[in-house]
Amino acid sequence: MRKQIRRAILHVLRGAGVFRMLRDSEWRRQRLLILCYHGISLEDEHDWRPGLYMAPTVFEQRLELLRNGEYNVLSLDEGLKRLYAGQLPPRSVSITFDDGQYDFYKQAYPRLKNYGFPVTVYQTTYYSDHQLPVFNLICSYLLWKRKGAVLNSGAEFGLEPQLDLRTEASRQAIVTALMEVSHKQSLSVDQKNQLACRLAEMLGVDYPVLMRKRILHLMSAGEIRELSRDGVDFQLHTHRHTMPRDQVLFRREIKDNRACLESVSRPGAVHFCYPSGVYGEQFLPWLKAEGVISATTCDVGLATSRKDSLLLPRFIDTSGRNGLDFESWLTGVGELLAIRRKSRHKFVSPGD
Ligand SMILES: [Zn+2]
Repeated sequence: MRKQIRRAILHVLRGAGVFRMLRDSEWRRQRLLILCYHGISLEDEHDWRPGLYMAPTVFEQRLELLRNGEYNVLSLDEGLKRLYAGQLPPRSVSITFDDGQYDFYKQAYPRLKNYGFPVTVYQTTYYSDHQLPVFNLICSYLLWKRKGAVLNSGAEFGLEPQLDLRTEASRQAIVTALMEVSHKQSLSVDQKNQLACRLAEMLGVDYPVLMRKRILHLMSAGEIRELSRDGVDFQLHTHRHTMPRDQVLFRREIKDNRACLESVSRPGAVHFCYPSGVYGEQFLPWLKAEGVISATTCDVGLATSRKDSLLLPRFIDTSGRNGLDFESWLTGVGELLAIRRKSRHKFVSPGD
């Protein structure tokens, strides 16, 4: 209901010319909208996780809106330099992708290239070295494929006998239990993949086909190298997609991530994105010590020069947003209307 009211208001505002007015205002010119995407579906991933995946046709519509609205799509590096120098052109936007999955290579990049838009990929690298589906994600995806079922095969996986696949929460509980089992048994990445394969067999899902399509795989080193040569900007997202609270471990994540990236893309990654949007004051000096000059969160908003460059907001574009919502954020109307609810992402206090 709230969504419908909001959309009705947006319709009225757009009809009254407020979108256009704000888009071309000095207020908007002083702001950079950093767009955040995760995945563009290879198959039906947007039905499984609409908050993370988008159908290719919807992504294409977004790019069309950027072109039709004559937005200045800047590389992240240029956008941030110009933001802090007070030299942004009107209607500035930067595009970022988190994680660097294979679907970026297959679905997103060809479309971005078509439109001539620069893009930054925050690449996590552990699963890039291991060309296998990301374990927790593929388990969740497999269970979703049989949603609605209640099975009695848990024991063969070291779980409670009953596997309830009827709700997202009950499926997520099974994923968590599977992760605990794999952790307890110190399974290697290959052994975890065998476990996922057995799970697929039990669920009647064709795992080899998912592997061939590279569902939930990250880009390989060769693919990153190819796109880097073509101008894609690869930046930091930690090696193992994690935020250790210990300084040595945290900095190792940055060092390992950077070393992997430097072996396959242009050296000198200095931009960072907090995995899963988890950020905290304690990380800021550690990031600075590693030479990181900007860091983006999953908090929603337009970036201004008053904002700490290590705590930059973005607009998380998902399948749950329609074109009108998206346009409202491009123009700045969305920012003005946003009810600042407490961030859903954890702000980690030093004592945590
Ligand atoms: Zn991520």
